[in-house]
Amino acid sequence: MGESISGGSLGMVQPVWHHISGNNDPQAGELYQTSLMSALIAGIYEGRVTYGEIRKHGDFGLGTFNDLDGEMVGFDGAFYQLRSDGSARPVAPYQKTPFAVVTFFEPQQDVELEQPIMKRDFLALLEKATDANLFSAIKVDGIFDEIRTRTVQRQMRPFVPLTEAAKHQVENTFSNVEGTLAGFRSPPYAQGIGVAGFHFHFLRQDKWAGGHALDYHIRSGKAQICTVHRFHVELPTSAEFLKANFADQALSEKIEASEG
Ligand code: ZN
Repeated sequence: MGESISGGSLGMVQPVWHHISGNNDPQAGELYQTSLMSALIAGIYEGRVTYGEIRKHGDFGLGTFNDLDGEMVGFDGAFYQLRSDGSARPVAPYQKTPFAVVTFFEPQQDVELEQPIMKRDFLALLEKATDANLFSAIKVDGIFDEIRTRTVQRQMRPFVPLTEAAKHQVENTFSNVEGTLAGFRSPPYAQGIGVAGFHFHFLRQDKWAGGHALDYHIRSGKAQICTVHRFHVELPTSAEFLKANFADQALSEKIEASEG
């Protein structure tokens, strides 16, 4: 079932548009990112930026931690660290990150999910509901029949590239669980700067566990979409970053192998 999005399955969802007016907050609608996905792929797992600093630029987003010590997911103003031992805990302001991307989440569009929907169909739905050439922050609160996640494992120096580190990722499958997916759709031209396409992290509603979302089946829920048209990247100035070689023809394959 649910082979593709047909007129019938699209009929299940009721997009509701909210027009935001008079928002003059200069930070609204800005995506703020530290470092590059290419830098993570190159094994640059140590940054100088704290989550205390990152939090000033957004209340929603995803990322990782120094030494690749788990996945970060943030929404509703709370950031969590999802570690490979299966634990989840609130992020402390002093914790540092080699890569994170955040925004202030202001939903402009709701998509009600009243019928069960599998990942592929859900993403096809989101492709229609969002702009391919802008960034979209997307939050999904729902009940998941099943969701499979991965969590990267803390790395020791000398660091190996992310494609190697990802081979030792820990996977978890949660069944019949309530929780939140938070993440982004990024344009194709952003590949390497970030992750082109969809990238979601998951946290159980009981805040007990989660990870980078690999596959899922949503029973019911609501997706909220926030379109972002400004993109701010803070580049590292560490020696490691400055001497890294980013002339990599096979970058897309490596990102898909690590973040797919
Ligand atoms: Zn991820």
